Formats: sequence, structure tokens, C-alpha cells
Amino acid sequence: MSILADARALDAQEPVCDACLGRVFADRSHGLTNDERGRSLRIAAALDDDEPHEPIDPESCWVCEGRCAAFDEWAERCAAAVEDIEFDTYQVGTRTPPLIEENERLFRETADLDPEAGELFKSEFNREVGKRVGRLTDTTVEFGRPEIQFTLDLEADHVEVDVHSTFVYGRYRKLERDIPQTEWPCSDCDGSGYVGKQVCDTCDGSGYLYQDSVEGLTAPVVRDVMDGTEATFHGAGREDVDARMLGTGRPFVIEVMEPRRRNVDVERLEGDINAFAEGRVEVEGLRLATYEMVERVKGLDASKRYRADVEFDGAVDDAALTDALAELEGATIEQYTPHRVDHRRANLTRERAVYEAEGERADAYHATVEIHGEGGLYIKELISGDEGRTEPSLAGLLGVDATVTALDVVGVYGEAEDFEAEEFFREDAAATSDTDAGSPADAADE
Ligand SMILES: [Zn+2]
Ligand SMILES: [Zn+2]
Repeated sequence: MSILADARALDAQEPVCDACLGRVFADRSHGLTNDERGRSLRIAAALDDDEPHEPIDPESCWVCEGRCAAFDEWAERCAAAVEDIEFDTYQVGTRTPPLIEENERLFRETADLDPEAGELFKSEFNREVGKRVGRLTDTTVEFGRPEIQFTLDLEADHVEVDVHSTFVYGRYRKLERDIPQTEWPCSDCDGSGYVGKQVCDTCDGSGYLYQDSVEGLTAPVVRDVMDGTEATFHGAGREDVDARMLGTGRPFVIEVMEPRRRNVDVERLEGDINAFAEGRVEVEGLRLATYEMVERVKGLDASKRYRADVEFDGAVDDAALTDALAELEGATIEQYTPHRVDHRRANLTRERAVYEAEGERADAYHATVEIHGEGGLYIKELISGDEGRTEPSLAGLLGVDATVTALDVVGVYGEAEDFEAEEFFREDAAATSDTDAGSPADAADE
């Protein structure tokens, strides 16, 4: 059958709106709306039959029950729902009432057409409402991971809004010892602060084993500035609670849930965090990041540079220390799971490389050593030998017992590439429009 014959067979089931008629032919002629397809087919059929053309009132359509007349209304409801939320990208999804899906099939089958001919009602609804939302809010549709997800529940007559998380990358230094990276709930009271009706003795009722954490000193500031509901800290590994994190710091991402602000001034945010943390923790290099940065920070293989204060139980001279460190530099270390590590973890021997080893004696019994090693190298055991479980070790090479009395991490570096790759950062909106404003002539001169 010709397209006009199909259109007549469909139109015979009036009243049907132009969009519902046109949707059956959605895969023909790009650049038209279904509404335009339907109206054109009706006009063409009227011309062919030399009959008067009578426009259809879309409200009266039995297939969509008048829904196709409501694109503007739904778009306005979406825009109103996010009026005070800052975002650049969105996506619209629609929950189609089962009755409309049923009507769609019946409509096609009665005209002897494939019950799935054309496109789904919900695809049209998503697109038509979506276009309008973009115009009303001056934002862009994004199918991958939009900042805002609208769900139109037609039956419930309700717009659901999911405000997706936003991310801030940076590097932190922990300038004091005994601060865990993330909040550490007290295990005696499960973080509640109470054991039965008694205030928990272990944590004095705070619910936390440590009063401060890197997370606690940073994430709430980001949450407040971005006006979110919660914030979570994701670190590129973690140092021991009693180790400081100095030097160039450790990469991290703070994830803010349901933010109302996304394009914040990161330099100002940096200042706010540093003021809040009062010198216990410092952050630098803050940048707005993509969702993928969380995975990168948590998953990228990283080497670490440590500085350790070491105490010897026998006298060590300069030459011996220099020789031992030269021996360690470039060596592959075999480490059997250390005593101090969780005993539930499977015991195994791991091999890790020492990239660089240097150091300086303070006196015959004390030295400071700096080791740059592959991720996963147990540094305290590399120094002490862990009763023979780590081989070679500084203690083993020197022939004296050696103990780490203080440990700092001074650098965390991606093994294969830098953490800070451009594709994991989000241009902030202000910076983008500044660039756009630059004249092409200026750019060409460079
Ligand atoms: Zn309709
Ligand atoms: Zn407690």
C-alpha cells in the first residue's frame, strides 16, 4: 500500500492528532516533526481526494489521550522544577501509561500495519519535551551522563527530577599526624555515640574514633559551597593514620550529591577549605572534574615517595648507609604479608620495585631516608625487614635493627601517566564563554 493509503486507513480511526498519525511514519523524511508529518499527510490526502481539509483538535485524540498537546506544559513544569538549580546538561525520560501503549498497537493493527511501525510514543515525548526544556533553560541535552535527569510520569501527573552528583578534583596535604583520611566511625557504638542508653566511653559520644579526618575537614565545605545534600571523599589510596601527607600531596575527588551550584570558583573554594581546615589539612590544584575522575583517582596505579625517620639499634656510618641505599635503589623487593596487616587478608608474597632510595644520617643511630617505590610497597617493612619477611631490606643490608619512628608520604604519582589529564576535567562555564568571546583574529596571530 502507498503511504497515502496507509495514512487514510489510520485517519479513518478518528479522532487522531497529527503527531500520533505522523509518528507511524517517523522513519521517513528527516527534519520534520511527527506533527508536521501527520498534518502534511492529511493535507496530501485531502488534496488527492479533493475534499476539504479539517484540522484536528489534538486534545480530542484517542491514541495519546490528548498528551501530544501538552509538550509545552510538561516542559514548563520541568523548567519550574529546577528554577533554582544550576546545570548545563539534562535528559528527559517518559513513563508511558500502559493504556497509551495499548492504543498505539491497536491504532496500527487496525490499519493493517506493523504494531511497532514508526517510533514509540515515549521517544517522541522525550524529544519534544526535551527540545523545549533546552530552550527554556538554555541548557543542552546529554544522553551519556546528564547533570539533571527529568522523568515525566504521565499517569501520576508528576515530574521527577534527579540532580546528579558533581565532582571536584584536587591534591591534599595532611600536615598533622593521627588524622584518618575518611571519617572513622567508632566501632564500639557503631558510630551512634551510645552503647545502649549510655554515652559511649570510647569516643565520648561523638560516634567517631578520631575527631578530624581529611574528609571531614574538606568535603563539608565543598558540599556547602555547591549547596548539595551530601559529599563523599574519594582518595587515590590513603596513608596510615599516623603518617603525614606532605610534598605535592595526594590526589582526591570530592563528590557532591544533588548540588544546586556546579560552576563554582575553585580558587575561592580552595581558600575556603584551607581556612576551615586551619592548617591541619591543605588542598591545592582544585578543578571541576567529570564523573570519570572518581574511577581514575581510585584505580590509576600510583607510585609513592616516602620520607621516613629511622632509628638503628647499632651504630651506622655514612658509607654503610650510602651503600645500603644504593643497593635498594632499583631493587625488586619480596614482601610476605606483614604482621601488622589485617590477619584476615590472604598471606602471600608480593614483589614491588624501589625506584629511588636516598638518605642522610643525623647521627650514628638516626637517619632520614626517602624512598620512591611502586604502589603497594610496604615501606615500614622495607626498612625493618619485618623479621625476614621482606627481602632485601635496609636493616638486612646494614646488619642492624632499623625501625621507622615517623613516616610521611611526600608524593603520589600516576605510574603510567599523570592523574591530571585534561579529559577528566570539566571546563567551568565562565571560562568557556570567555574563550568564545576572544576574537579569531587574535588567536590566529599566535
Ligand atoms: Zn495523539
Ligand atoms: Zn563510640
